[in-house]
Amino acid sequence: MDYDFKTKLAAERERVEDLFEYEGCKVGRGTYGHVYKAKRKDGKDEKEYALKQIEGTGISMSACREIALLRELKHPNVIALQKVFLSHSDRKVWLLFDYAEHDLWHIIKFHRASKANKKPMQLPRGMVKSLLYQILDGIHYLHANWVLHRDLKPANILVMGEGPERGRVKIADMGFARLFNSPLKPLADLDPVVVTFWYRAPELLLGARHYTKAIDKDWEDIRKMPEYPTLQKDFRRTTYANSSLIKYMEKHKVKPDSKVFLLLQKLLTMDPTKRITSEQALQDPYFLEDPLPTTDVFAGCQIPYPKREFLNEDEPEEKTEKHENHFVNWPLHHVISLLHYNSFQNIDTHCIYICLCKK
Ligand code: AMP
Repeated sequence: MDYDFKTKLAAERERVEDLFEYEGCKVGRGTYGHVYKAKRKDGKDEKEYALKQIEGTGISMSACREIALLRELKHPNVIALQKVFLSHSDRKVWLLFDYAEHDLWHIIKFHRASKANKKPMQLPRGMVKSLLYQILDGIHYLHANWVLHRDLKPANILVMGEGPERGRVKIADMGFARLFNSPLKPLADLDPVVVTFWYRAPELLLGARHYTKAIDKDWEDIRKMPEYPTLQKDFRRTTYANSSLIKYMEKHKVKPDSKVFLLLQKLLTMDPTKRITSEQALQDPYFLEDPLPTTDVFAGCQIPYPKREFLNEDEPEEKTEKHENHFVNWPLHHVISLLHYNSFQNIDTHCIYICLCKK
């Protein structure tokens, strides 16, 4: 490259450390990097930003994927990428996002702790419904644009704090996301990385390699799943004899004919060809019933959740999810359900948490 041009370029290049104050403000550690809360040094705006430093150096496959997708995506429920910084001195890649003060993981953790301390916190009426609606809206947008997130989990469902977008859900962390097209490559060949498998759809747990149109019955094609023999070997029918969604809900006083229960059932359908899509779910009668979903999931109420804490640079973040407890510890008899949510082309691994409020 021409020397003068190179020098000019280097002089003009904006450097993240010149523009933003973020030292000591680490708020998250994801699969693909470190996230800092940041503010502009020049005071051009008082906004809070999230700066994500991508793990490793140079533009890796996942960084490239995340940047390429985020540049194209624009939806109120998908986190907006503001800028990309390439730090030439250490070959680090930085992504600048709007800052979201909360996420579903911390919200759930807060409620579990408040229940454990015998001070259960009431959720604003309709908050669960609004969360679900906005998650579905964001997923539908992604799927309609042929993007599969593939790592949806509570920590990646961000919620905006005080400000113009108060209480707005933002789906984040596109590191695993991929564009999908037809015909699909075998799913198992795409990414050998083990993603958080608690949120995987049952057909993916059973090793589905690609989307097949199953012949109806209960779930006829389960027998064709690569891991079906393993399931047969390890599965003790007696362990699950008394487990059913209806029984579980009865215990928590959710009526089996309520709209919320019916929607849950549709989302939890084992057979991926019968499970409803995000688009269908958005049209569900549950969302037309009072209380209606609101753009501010907190519905104007005071936000009781603490702000993000700064993490010690070397300290690993406590993000090990104690799934076994989600079902037993949820306050106010809410049920947080792991929804193996699959939509559009029926190949996604999306699973969403739904909290069903006790009436
Ligand atoms: P990620 O690498 O995107 O999974 O981010 C890791 C963690 O950083 C997340 O689980 C959040 O707790 C936090 N985080 C990510 N993006 C943001 C954001 N835009 N605003 C605030 N916190 C974030």
